[in-house]
Amino acid sequence: MMRFDDDDDDDGRKTNTNTNNKSGCSTSSCAELLVYDFDGTLANTPTPREGKIMYENKIGQAWPHVGWWGRQESLEPPLEVGPGPAWASYVENRTRTDCVRIMMTGRVEKLSRRVTECLRMLEGTTETLCFHELVFKKGNGDTLEYKCEELRRMVRAYGPKKVRIWEDRVKHAEGFREFGKREFAEIVFEVTLVEPSNDY
Ligand SMILES: [Mg+2]
Repeated sequence: MMRFDDDDDDDGRKTNTNTNNKSGCSTSSCAELLVYDFDGTLANTPTPREGKIMYENKIGQAWPHVGWWGRQESLEPPLEVGPGPAWASYVENRTRTDCVRIMMTGRVEKLSRRVTECLRMLEGTTETLCFHELVFKKGNGDTLEYKCEELRRMVRAYGPKKVRIWEDRVKHAEGFREFGKREFAEIVFEVTLVEPSNDY
């Protein structure tokens, strides 16, 4: 079974990536905190199974690396990245001034540049990202635990009345629902499991 958590080569950086200043987005107040996962949610990225076949078909040799999610090459040509099932929702919400938009991924910090390039590419000609934060995983811990810890921080920081999460992993979507009920009963937690969902 493939899990993001068990991947190779994480450099364990501790810094957080905040794109607020670069994005040109502003927020007067935060009624809603919108949190988008990256792989399979904002972006259609190849999974290891289909990606390794695609790579071999195009390059003529087998995927030469051990891991997948921790490799920058999994987001580079000849592999293809396109808009995912939640991209339209992001576009719909990208100019609102009453919400905070977050991209939060289980990909590790050292892939932040490539993930950001992929997002800019999806934006098209303007290449202007309207996220207040791009959040990457630090260390080798469990991805769901890391995401819940970041959610705690963001709820404290932005004080939203409602949290909306888009996620393609079934277990994570369930985990976020339970987390919201358990820790933030006074806030509406709306978790959208996008289709196609994934069970890794
Ligand atoms: Mg995902």
